[in-house]
Amino acid sequence: MAIMITDVCINCGACEPECPNNAIYEGGAAWRWGEGTALKQISKDGIVMDANTPQEPLSNEFYYIVTDKCTECVGFHEEPQCAAVCPVNCCVPDLQHQETKEELLKKKNWLHST
Ligand code: SF4
Ligand code: SF4
Repeated sequence: MAIMITDVCINCGACEPECPNNAIYEGGAAWRWGEGTALKQISKDGIVMDANTPQEPLSNEFYYIVTDKCTECVGFHEEPQCAAVCPVNCCVPDLQHQETKEELLKKKNWLHST
């Protein structure tokens, strides 16, 4: 399952550099598939685009996690690094996006070996 950031976030920024997939962004900042991954092109909903195309921020108020880039740190670390460093414990399991360890590993390989 992916991790999500709740509105308890104090915008300290501690989590962002810890993410091995670059799945965490500051509120209001555009995100990119290609940042922190090996992706060059992305095909989504029938549209092919450059992986460095800026995407709309998912939050304008708090740091946010791009679900499709979060592997719960599988393939890199034993536990979610964002949750490990967050001073207010607001990096929590996203119950809307539950994935098995195998699915997370597959996602990690997709992000980093294309
Ligand atoms: S759980 Fe790991 S991969 Fe997911 S956002 Fe946090 S640091 Fe990044
Ligand atoms: S470490 Fe926690 S409080 Fe700090 S920016 Fe990340 S989610 Fe927000």
